[in-house]
Amino acid sequence: MGALNLYDTATRTVSTFSPIKSGEVSIYVCGATVQASPHIGHIRSAVNFDILRRWLMNSGYKVSFIRNVTDIEDKILHKAGHEDMTWWALAMKYEREFSTAFDALNVMPPTYEPRATGHITQMIELMQILIDNGSAYAPGNGDVYLEVRTLASYLTLSGQRIDDLLSASDGDGIASMKRDPHDFALWKAAKPGEPSWPTPWGAGRPGWHLECSAMAHAYLGESFDIHGGGLDLIFPHHENEIAQSKAAGYGFAARWMHNAWVTHSGEKMSKSLGNSLLVEKILQRVRGIELRWYLGSAHYRSMLEYSQSALDESAIAFRRIESFLKRAEEVLGERPECVISEDFAAAMNDDLAVPAALAGISENLRLGNQGITDKNNKAISKNASEIRGALAILGCDPFDTHFSSGSSKDLTQALDQVVKLALAQRAAARERKDFAASDAIRDGLLALGITIEDTAQGPRWSMMEKG
Ligand SMILES: [Zn+2]
Repeated sequence: MGALNLYDTATRTVSTFSPIKSGEVSIYVCGATVQASPHIGHIRSAVNFDILRRWLMNSGYKVSFIRNVTDIEDKILHKAGHEDMTWWALAMKYEREFSTAFDALNVMPPTYEPRATGHITQMIELMQILIDNGSAYAPGNGDVYLEVRTLASYLTLSGQRIDDLLSASDGDGIASMKRDPHDFALWKAAKPGEPSWPTPWGAGRPGWHLECSAMAHAYLGESFDIHGGGLDLIFPHHENEIAQSKAAGYGFAARWMHNAWVTHSGEKMSKSLGNSLLVEKILQRVRGIELRWYLGSAHYRSMLEYSQSALDESAIAFRRIESFLKRAEEVLGERPECVISEDFAAAMNDDLAVPAALAGISENLRLGNQGITDKNNKAISKNASEIRGALAILGCDPFDTHFSSGSSKDLTQALDQVVKLALAQRAAARERKDFAASDAIRDGLLALGITIEDTAQGPRWSMMEKG
C-alpha cells in the first residue's frame, strides 16, 4: 500500500503523512458547543473525520481520537436563560442529542470525549505557565488575556496580519483592561448569576480557545499528529489555540485538517435554515446509513450543497449498491468479505479522495451486476468484496451490525409501514365488499397483538398490552 498523503491547512500543500510516534496516530477534533440540536453541517465534520480515522486504522495505525464537548460558553448561558433550564441541564440535553446523532450515522465514539468543565484544573495550569513566561496577563478584574504581540508568530494558519484584524471580540470582554485590542481572553471574570470557578486571578469561566489547548495537552501531550475541525474554526479559534499552546512551549499539532461546510443555496447553513436540516428531521426521510453515505460522498475539502433531491438521489444510488451486496450474498451462499482494492487504497491515500473511490465502487457495481447476469460467481465475489471493503471504510457497510441489528426506532418505523400496508389492503377489501378478506386481515393483525381502532381520522393501530 502506498504512502498516505494529506492536505495540511498550515502549509497549504498535500504532503506525506508520517506520525510522530511510529505506528500510532493522535488526533484532536473540536467537538460541539452543546447549545442546540445537531444539524447535518455538524455531523458532516464528524463523518469526515470518522472516515479519516477508519482509513488510518485500516492502514495499521493505533489511533487515539479525542473530540471535546464545549459545555460552558456564552451561547449555552443565554439559551439556558431562554429555555428556563440550568445551563448544565441544557448542555447535557444537547450533548445527548449529538451522541444519538453520531451513533445513528455510525460515527465511532472518540477514544475519549472530554468536557470543558471537567478540565478547569488543566486550564489554570496552562494559564499559570503563560503568565509566568510573560505571554499572558491578568489585569486584576478576574479576566486573563493572551498578549498576542509577544508571540513569535501569530495568525500563520490563516495567513493574516494582526494589524489587519478587527479587535478581538470576547463578547463581554472589557476592552479597556486589554493591553492591545487584539489580545484575546483566556479566562472571563465572573459575572453575577453566571457559573464560575476560582483561580489565582479571580473567579470566572474559561474562554472557548483555552479549553481545547488544555484538553489536547491533557490527552495527547505537548505534540500530536492531526488537529481537525470545520473551516470556520481556522480563525479565530484555531489560531488562538496555536497561540496559547506554542506560547506555553508545546509543539502542538503537526498537521491541520479542515472539513468544508454543508451549504444551502450556496450559503453556510444558518441556524434558521438549519432547523429543517436537523439530523433528527432528515432521519425521518432517509436511514442513517443513507445520510452517512450522502454526507461522506463529497471530498472533505469541498462544499456540499444540500438539496432534498440530491439527498434522495444519493439514497437511491446507495440502495442499488446495498441490494447488489444482498443479492451477491444470496447467489454466493455466503456474505462477501471486506477487501480493500488497490484503486480504493490509492484514492484514499490521495488526501481521502472519496469521489474517486466512489467512481471505483460504481465500476465494481457494474461489473458485479454483469457477473449476476453472466452467472459468473468469481466476478460477483470479487466486486462484492471490494465494494464491501470500501463501504466499511466509509462507515456504510450494510452488513455492519451497527446498522443490520436495527435500532428499536427503525423497527418501530418499519412496523408502522407494514401495518399501514395491511390496513390499506383491508380498506381495499372492504371497498369491494370482500368482508371475508377484510376480517382475515384484521384477525391476522390481532393474532400478532395489533389492535385496530377505526377513528374519524382513519384506522389507528396499537400493540396490545401483554397480559
Ligand atoms: Zn477547539
